[in-house]
Amino acid sequence: MRVYNFSAGPSTLPLEVLEKVQKKLINYENSGMSVMEMSHRSKEYEAINTEAEVLLRELMNIPKNYEVAFIQGGASLQFEALPLNINKNGKADYVVTGIWAEKAYKEAKKFIDAKEIASSKDKSFNYIPKITKSMIRSDADYLHICQNNTIVGTRFNYIPEAGNVPIVNDLSSCILSEEMDVSKYGVLYAGAQKNIGPAGMTLIIVRNDLLDSTHANCPTILKWKTHTEAKSLYHTPPSFPTYVAMEVFRYLKKLGGIKVMQKINEDKAKMLYDFIDNSKMFSNNIVKEDRSIMNIPFVTPCEELNEKFLKEAKAAGLTTLKGHKLVGGMRASIYNAMPTEGVKALVDFMKKFEKENK
Ligand SMILES: *Cc1c(COP(=O)(O)O)cnc(C)c1O
Repeated sequence: MRVYNFSAGPSTLPLEVLEKVQKKLINYENSGMSVMEMSHRSKEYEAINTEAEVLLRELMNIPKNYEVAFIQGGASLQFEALPLNINKNGKADYVVTGIWAEKAYKEAKKFIDAKEIASSKDKSFNYIPKITKSMIRSDADYLHICQNNTIVGTRFNYIPEAGNVPIVNDLSSCILSEEMDVSKYGVLYAGAQKNIGPAGMTLIIVRNDLLDSTHANCPTILKWKTHTEAKSLYHTPPSFPTYVAMEVFRYLKKLGGIKVMQKINEDKAKMLYDFIDNSKMFSNNIVKEDRSIMNIPFVTPCEELNEKFLKEAKAAGLTTLKGHKLVGGMRASIYNAMPTEGVKALVDFMKKFEKENK
């Protein structure tokens, strides 16, 4: 039996996509082999690689002056790749809104003059600081933000005004969840395993004028231009995850695109937040306007009840609800692929649990 899997990552995938992949698993489009077994130089794989990019461009409305690549290494490798790729003045500004954003900042500090211009660490990251232009150094090579903070459950609900300083945005846990204006950013990157497909593929979207200020010692494999010029085929790409991502992109397109997905996501999040806010047992301490619609942490008043909740939820087919070890309590990750029925089942279970444990 399939469960409702609230894992923060790797995460649930649309059942329709999994079934499609299963059908084609051992003989992809009459090639006589699986995509897993296929040369990345084959015409079948080239078609997958091309279609994945075309669909992504369509879904996100990516302007022509942006390059796209599907690469390896995870979002974490981009924490290091970034300061080596945009390296004009050797300085960059960071907004530290969570554990991942902090990691990105710390890695950059190893290579450049990275400055934390704002942080919400003073309140356990439960809000998003307001960034104004005067806080950003005018000669910074870029401003780094993390749109959706997976562990703590916050999200930027505005685009910082950064003037000519390009904004680099870690979209790992919210890509394709809501409409966004790509042209407002210099670079977008995301690991695939939360809202795109299986772990192993990392997506980068880079405005093409930012491909030419790479540090001279930047390793070839970390250099974005290596991958954008080779159309993601510089070396062996994460071929199977990219293929599944392509099926996810097809699925999103069929659904009606990101606008439709966003409405579904907002409704799912509202259902859960409304219940939590009206509950006497469950609570979420994130500043309301900064709440994530993808990752929703919550707690009961005590550790014993949290434990009991997790155990009984699991037995009821609602799994991986344990919060990150740095935060504790519970966290429901309700990415694109979490069906509305899954969130409904969670809310119903929480209601029942609250009644039984008054
Ligand atoms: C999960 C996550 C990462 C790390 O991704 P990896 O692919 O595991 O390196 C980075 N940033 C955010 C916002 C994340 O949610």
